[in-house]
Amino acid sequence: MLEAEIGIEEFLEKYVDTERFRQACAKCGNYNKRWSCPEYDFDTLEFWRGFRTLKLYAEQLFTEGMTPAEAYAEYGRMKNELDGRLLAMESDGSVSLAAGSCARCAECTKTAGKPCVHPDKMRYSIESLGGDVVKTVSELLGTEIKWADAGGLPEYFVLTGGMLLK
Ligand code: SF4
Repeated sequence: MLEAEIGIEEFLEKYVDTERFRQACAKCGNYNKRWSCPEYDFDTLEFWRGFRTLKLYAEQLFTEGMTPAEAYAEYGRMKNELDGRLLAMESDGSVSLAAGSCARCAECTKTAGKPCVHPDKMRYSIESLGGDVVKTVSELLGTEIKWADAGGLPEYFVLTGGMLLK
């Protein structure tokens, strides 16, 4: 597990650009279709500023020898495991950040305009709140995000979650 810690104001100054990443999210099929994804009815900067410290937790999934189907299945398993572990670590007002968008339900209730069915378990990701995960991973966690090669897989995936501390 890769770990790092940074104050929220420093993280906002160096690693958050809400409008840039909202526009990036707008190109994704989940945009405004999952409660864990923008658009939001709250101010994301105010959300960040409800905390003092961000602890980052990341895991790498090396894909050598895997087919794309095997790699993505393992990615899903690791995401569920990391998100669950971070959720269980919450205490004293801390709130975890998921490694990507919420995928608990096959079809999120947001598309029907209904409330989230698991608000106690749904958590936002760093990128959905405007965080630059590529820069965060590179500068704070000491590794690099890799992109898919011609074989359809990157050398490794980096699953990045976090914990917001009061
Ligand atoms: S738990 Fe279900 S309803 Fe809530 S954000 Fe996740 S997918 Fe949507």
